[in-house]
Amino acid sequence: MNDLLFRSLRAVVSSGQGELLGEGSWVACQGSQIAAIGIGGEEPEAKRVVDLPGHILFPGMVNTHHHLYQSLFRCVPEVQKAPLFDWLVHLYTRWRCLTEEAVDVSTRVGCGELLLSGCTTTSDHLYLFPAGTERLIDREIEAAAAVGIRFHPTRGSMTRGARQGGLPPDDVVQSAEAILEDSVRLAETYHDPSRFSMTRLGLAPCSPFSVEEEIMVRTAEMARERGLRLHTHLCETEDEERYCLETYGCRPIELAERVGWLGEDVWFAHAVHLNEEELERLAETGTGVAHCPSSNCRLGSGRAPFRAMRRLGVPMGLGVDGSSSNDGGNLLAEARMAMIVHRPLEVPCEDWPSASEVLEVATEGGARVLGRDDLGRVEVGLAADLVAIDTHRLAFAGACVHDPLAALLYCSPNRPADWVVVNGKVVVERGKLVTLDEAEVTRRADQIAQEMSQRM
Ligand SMILES: [Zn+2]
Repeated sequence: MNDLLFRSLRAVVSSGQGELLGEGSWVACQGSQIAAIGIGGEEPEAKRVVDLPGHILFPGMVNTHHHLYQSLFRCVPEVQKAPLFDWLVHLYTRWRCLTEEAVDVSTRVGCGELLLSGCTTTSDHLYLFPAGTERLIDREIEAAAAVGIRFHPTRGSMTRGARQGGLPPDDVVQSAEAILEDSVRLAETYHDPSRFSMTRLGLAPCSPFSVEEEIMVRTAEMARERGLRLHTHLCETEDEERYCLETYGCRPIELAERVGWLGEDVWFAHAVHLNEEELERLAETGTGVAHCPSSNCRLGSGRAPFRAMRRLGVPMGLGVDGSSSNDGGNLLAEARMAMIVHRPLEVPCEDWPSASEVLEVATEGGARVLGRDDLGRVEVGLAADLVAIDTHRLAFAGACVHDPLAALLYCSPNRPADWVVVNGKVVVERGKLVTLDEAEVTRRADQIAQEMSQRM
């Protein structure tokens, strides 16, 4: 007997494949996985049957770059109009007030927002551990599990403080020994490499201007011994490029190669400023990219070479990036952004990203970047990570008769998903999170954001 059956759907769409099935289609789930897909009368039995006329069902999306703690640092007036380095220097003075409670609440906020946008798997990059808050990753893993999202936290790190010529203040950087010891502890406690795993740990020194080469090398060695993936920010701004040339005597990709950071187990956030040769190195080595177009626009960082990366076959997923530079966690809106932001400069129009291509990047693409072959499509035997959106709304009127998949992205995707299933469990029902009291969490978030602002 199946556990869950969604039936009477308007359409089932699956990333690059477009519409799989039309009016009257159904999807059945058993345990963690999709058990059957079909159309018409021969529906299997299930313990729970939900009729969803007018709904489009698609695979849960995968977010490949985030800083969940930043959900408590949105719209900070001093940095609403600031490029990355100025933005960071100001925000470090606020982020150093981070507490375990702040991480707990911001994780609930960020994961809740992502689920409501149709994202069922997210990575996170937490790299700041003020003294006395060494268990922040533990807190976010617990909070993400409570909200019910599939989670790829990365243990971030910073070792190069202002005294060593880095950007962060000295009191938020850690020693290489402390970082590596904590990484081992977290890997042994939480990393689950099994199929349909809900928690996989990655390791993530923060950026060339906040870490030293030693921690990059030692982190890569440790990750490869333990089968963990590697993540960092790279090629985000021209300031970073200049910093690398002055500090390391080379460009960021050459630095990455020098410290052993190119390969199928590595993904970089941003990848905006690369030359042709560097793009080819990413493609040859299978190094992945988290494309974050909203953040790149918000901070004036630039525009990633989307078409060149796709043409060369660089693995690519989408990332909302942290909420201090977005300032929200709506992955469907991010997909729309990726679809339209490249158009003014991509000539000819045949090279413009399509809705189908961008949905593929947001689902299968992200799954590949996170090393998952069990997610990203509506397919029997893959994880039951599903999203359904009701198209009986003014926003969709007249659109789905032409192209249901395109309607998801073209028709301003700002309303919540109606149904979201992660690992076979319903976490959003009729547009409401079932795992979270939205009003209560928002109240706590406002309160903590204000307290931290006063403490700063
Ligand atoms: Zn980031």
